[in-house]
Amino acid sequence: MPQEEFGEFRYYPTPKIVVDELLEDPAAWMTLFHELLHAVSEMYGLELDEGQIRTLEVALGDAFRGNPELRLFGEKI
Ligand SMILES: [Zn+2]
Repeated sequence: MPQEEFGEFRYYPTPKIVVDELLEDPAAWMTLFHELLHAVSEMYGLELDEGQIRTLEVALGDAFRGNPELRLFGEKI
């Protein structure tokens, strides 16, 4: 992983997200979320560019921060 990056998504040989282990919260979680969006884009053929990924990261991150009940969403589906 290049030094200027905090995380990355690799599709081959198996899909994998890597986050810099030195990152602390909330940067570690936001990096994981950012890389998860790259993974979804690549695995589902969305072809999102970096700007679109960052927009989704900020918009969805704000939605989760502003609505704590959304954090339980994954446990309910
Ligand atoms: Zn990115």
